[in-house]
Amino acid sequence: MNEMTSNDLNLVPFVSVDHMMKIVLEIGVEKVLTGIAEYLENDFKRWELFDKTPRVASHSNEGVIELMPTSDGEVYGFKYVNGHPKNTKEGLQTVTAFGVLADVNTGYPVLLSEMTILTALRTAATSAMAAKYLMPKGSKTMAMIGNGAQSEFQALAFKAITGISNLRLYDIDATATDRCAKNLNGLGFNIVKCNSEQMAVEGAEIITTVTADKQYATILTDNMVGSGVHINAIGGDCPGKTELHKDILLRSEIFVEYPPQTRIEGEIQQLPEDYPVTELWQVMTGDAEGRTTDKQITLFDSVGFAIEDFSALRYIRDQLEATGQFQNLDMVADPDDPRDLFGMILRAQAAQGK
Ligand code: NAD
Repeated sequence: MNEMTSNDLNLVPFVSVDHMMKIVLEIGVEKVLTGIAEYLENDFKRWELFDKTPRVASHSNEGVIELMPTSDGEVYGFKYVNGHPKNTKEGLQTVTAFGVLADVNTGYPVLLSEMTILTALRTAATSAMAAKYLMPKGSKTMAMIGNGAQSEFQALAFKAITGISNLRLYDIDATATDRCAKNLNGLGFNIVKCNSEQMAVEGAEIITTVTADKQYATILTDNMVGSGVHINAIGGDCPGKTELHKDILLRSEIFVEYPPQTRIEGEIQQLPEDYPVTELWQVMTGDAEGRTTDKQITLFDSVGFAIEDFSALRYIRDQLEATGQFQNLDMVADPDDPRDLFGMILRAQAAQGK
């Protein structure tokens, strides 16, 4: 096992993709999802003390690259993440990411981690946590439209956190549905593979839309959404990229992460700027109501917010000692005299005998 000592502040624990997979396998994916959800609940309930800003996005014709920073005053965190829907056609991921935690007191980084897998875990944990507060009581059936990289994580989080057991899968690419169904086989779901969105939503109390397309798409039309349903809309997370017909929004109670970001990126970019929405954290603290009637349509208009990455990184950091799944990186220059940074290079030169 690697040693983490407080005297070695220049050594930063690094969690590679391999380490992350081993952490997930050692702890168990559903336990990781419920663990991250606990950290999310903890952080959402102290939402007001965080530094918050819409993510800093650099858009291109092909996709987006974003930085997502936040701080609780003691720890600072950020994630680098991209979203490139055309990537899968080239054998690449749509979303890849890495993230950092740092000590606010010294400004020194304390963790560098892969976040491609961790983003899928935290997105799924956030979705299921939101659904716990918003879905009809006792929901057992979820339709999932879009069966790509995020989909199995979503399914497992909903099973572990909300107790759903029936899955109705649909993707425009039937091979994606086949892969998702195969990966989830034997993990406690009754799975129905569907050949249309309409078929997928039949009898579902929860509808998850998790498609990737850099455009205003209409994955769900108004007539597909019956009263009392909870919609977990994940895929519309960029300016110009949505999944739901506007009429669905007008019939729904809408819950969001951070309104200044969601109004730019979420489904509600289709609505006027002052359209009323509820912040999820307020439902969790009891400051706002969640679902109030069986007939209501609730919509979690998820775009992914920096505090969720912060919670996920905190969770992973707390698993390092027990799992030993990290290596220390010599990432911060550490001259004997803090002001003699150049002298450190000279001494290295002398040591090389040059
Ligand atoms: P992915 O490319 O691996 O999978 C997307 C799937 O959607 C593909 O299988 C594709 O065939 C399918 N699809 C596209 N258009 C469709 C349609 N009209 N009907 C049905 N299926 C359709 O992408 P991913 O990594 O699973 O991510 C999915 C989306 O979720 C992306 O847009 C991504 O940006 C977004 N995302 C959001 C968050 C968040 O926090 N809200 C986090 C991560 C990813």
